[in-house]
Amino acid sequence: MTNLRIPATQSFIRLRGASPALILFACLLCLLGSASAQAPVPDSPAIEADAKAMLAKLTLKQKINLIGGVDEMFTNAIPAIGLPRLKMSDASVGVRTWGPTTAYAGGAALAATWDRDFARELGEGLGRDARARGVNFLLGPGVNIARSPVSGRNFEYLSEDPFLNSALVVPYIQGLQSQGVSATVKHYALNNQEYNRHNVDVEVDERTMREIYLPAFEAAVTKGHTTAVMDSYNLINGVHATQNEFLNLKVLKGEWGFEGVLMSDWDATYDGVAAANNGLDLEMPSPRFMNEQTLLAAVKNGSVKEATIDDKVLRIFRVALRYGWLDRPQFDPAYSTYSEADRPTALKGALESITLLKNEGHTLPLDAAKVKTIAIIGPDAWPAVTGGGGSSEAESFEPVSIVTGIGKLVGPGTHLLYTRGLPEMDEVFRRTQWEAGLTESTYPSKDFSGSAQTATPRDINNYKQEWWGPEDKTPRSIRYSGSFQAAKAGKYLVLAAASGSDHYTVSVDSKQVIEQEQIEGQHPESASIELSAGQTIHVVADYLPGFVGNRFGLGIVNESDMISTEVKHFASIADVVILAVGFSPSTESEGLDRTFTLPWGQDALIEASVAANPHTVVTFIGGGAFDTRRWLDKVPALVHAWYPGQEGGTAIAEVLFGEHDPEGKLPVSFDRTWEDDPSYPYYYPIKGADTKLHVTENNHPSVDYDIPHVKYGDKLMVGYRYWTTTGKHPLFPFGFGLSYTTFSFSNMSVPATAASGSTVPVSFDVRNTGGTTGAEVAELYVSDPSAKATRPERELKGFEKVQLGPGETKHVTISLDPRAFSYWDEAKHGWTIDPGKFVIRVGDSSENTPLHADLTVN
Ligand code: BGC
Repeated sequence: MTNLRIPATQSFIRLRGASPALILFACLLCLLGSASAQAPVPDSPAIEADAKAMLAKLTLKQKINLIGGVDEMFTNAIPAIGLPRLKMSDASVGVRTWGPTTAYAGGAALAATWDRDFARELGEGLGRDARARGVNFLLGPGVNIARSPVSGRNFEYLSEDPFLNSALVVPYIQGLQSQGVSATVKHYALNNQEYNRHNVDVEVDERTMREIYLPAFEAAVTKGHTTAVMDSYNLINGVHATQNEFLNLKVLKGEWGFEGVLMSDWDATYDGVAAANNGLDLEMPSPRFMNEQTLLAAVKNGSVKEATIDDKVLRIFRVALRYGWLDRPQFDPAYSTYSEADRPTALKGALESITLLKNEGHTLPLDAAKVKTIAIIGPDAWPAVTGGGGSSEAESFEPVSIVTGIGKLVGPGTHLLYTRGLPEMDEVFRRTQWEAGLTESTYPSKDFSGSAQTATPRDINNYKQEWWGPEDKTPRSIRYSGSFQAAKAGKYLVLAAASGSDHYTVSVDSKQVIEQEQIEGQHPESASIELSAGQTIHVVADYLPGFVGNRFGLGIVNESDMISTEVKHFASIADVVILAVGFSPSTESEGLDRTFTLPWGQDALIEASVAANPHTVVTFIGGGAFDTRRWLDKVPALVHAWYPGQEGGTAIAEVLFGEHDPEGKLPVSFDRTWEDDPSYPYYYPIKGADTKLHVTENNHPSVDYDIPHVKYGDKLMVGYRYWTTTGKHPLFPFGFGLSYTTFSFSNMSVPATAASGSTVPVSFDVRNTGGTTGAEVAELYVSDPSAKATRPERELKGFEKVQLGPGETKHVTISLDPRAFSYWDEAKHGWTIDPGKFVIRVGDSSENTPLHADLTVN
């Protein structure tokens, strides 16, 4: 094995003078190595010695050049010591950077499976896909807590619960790394919103961090043994993640003993010396701060020690040596770029994650033999929506849409009608009939002052979905004005969209109806207005582009006219309507927060369809909870399909028609309204509390950043912790999901007493009491009523997914380790267990726990 860890040049040197038999043996090991040496070998004195020997050959300049990335997705090669460039790829749902790939049900969908075995299988699949593309570091998984339903990247992350995230991230990493590919667990830490993600300072107390936001990272390091971690963009308690001593040095590398590579998120570094001294090992994607200019001088003047640079280089070498990256090409032709073998994994994730939230009167499963005409309506029905937007967006070879999935399942004998039901957004922009056209006034300033140049476009139709772009240095502001006459009385939607850092307001008859701040984290906005027949309104839109170019779009549409005539027609002649609504990469994405309401027009679409045919099933694609208030009591069935990956359409069809029992469970609490969510009062930065951060960037002008502060006043009360502690109820609780069969829990056994610090076994039976095969997740919650500190009413500390045939019973044992009883003692700065009474509860959601027993911890 030692030979496998020696860089090629060194192994050649070491083998010189060895006997022919030894050389043959070593070559055999090398060959074996390329076919089977996959998982990283543990660190050892031999690896440390090899890493140090490589380091000794480098100049300080060479070392500094290694700790800054190159060409967006690589580290620099050092041929003299046999180090190749190390290749990276995004991430959470597929190996997306290097062309089409398999898109899996990852992120929130993975969490909805509650299946550790599937997490491992997903990791292995991603690992194979990465090897087929020569990728050394996969830039995932993302494990940030889904604190708020509107956070734009929840779909890429896992759940609202630290135990569930920890339980899934460990096998995911193990599966991925078993293929010889490093995981890069991200975004460390507290990146729980996209709104102004580069600048926000998260103010959070240590107990909240330790109990809610850090455990998944801790498990990834201490149990999953991830070989890389990525720092986030935001600040934490006043300090950027990439230079945060507490998080990087004290916790990650100190307490958790992380020996791998800590890299920055892309352009998340702000100070070369501070980052170098506070734990950042690799600045990505290029050395804007940790570069020769800064660090050579810093080492010379003593503000950075050469040993600090050495430690970073050694970490990169150590990881490369442990995987054998110096001895074998990372591209291995044994792996396929397009692999049929991945499809079952992609399908499995989609099937296991689909969560049935409502099923009145056994609307589902549908009987394929009885349903003769099916209407499939909605923007998410076709083409397939496999994932959300941004850096995780994986293009798959052959994604299956809901239309094609259902079509294939029911076959040619069934009549299938499809309509999108709503226009595309730019169609609304194009179709708006402005009276006497529009006036476009472009001012040479940022505040609509100076003498404007005018033009008269017919419509405002420039929207392009872009979450980032080149900064616009020319001062300019654009005002659009025009009149619109309502042809008939009714509700009208004013729809505006821009992207990235653009700012705009829209006013109707001098009253502002839409405002989008000039802050990263935007989504298309709409406002509903009531107009009488013949009424003329004057509309003014003030647009401040943040990037080069113009991405502004504006239109007005009558709500009933925007729904296509086919909706009513198709719905009324169908035996069943499948309404495919939800989000998409343009409405739920990295760089944007999303709305809690469905994207514009979709509520009205559901209402129109249900009015024509009440036998309607709503299928939803998206990363979490959303507003269902306008129509939920009118539809008999609601299916949450998350972002199901490339096999989503097949899986949705199989669940709707009962070929697979729904088994997903909500990994987040499902609020009725965004205002109900415990994070709502604390989500946006505190008004008027911004501070300035002055950053001097080498080779670039100095920049002043506005630092807005977000105070996590919800503390431990995230998701179900809030609901169960307050005794209030969300629309659907965390852990909830229906099935076509039924289950019961019985025979719980919990020891009456246990010594503090011991492991406690809890066992019980789960029985399938219905008529079909299905899977149940037994969820175990621990309550600590006698704790000295205030604790959430209950916390998930164990779960087990069980597959059961009709009438079958399984006996389940869950071991509760000491952490299951502990909380973070703020005075002691450590975990503590208060002796006394604990309550153990088992059930099928955070609110339905039919089994409970007391336990006294001495
Ligand atoms: C994202 C990361 C991603 C990186 C590289 C950043 O914008 O936040 O999650 O890995 O880009 O694409």
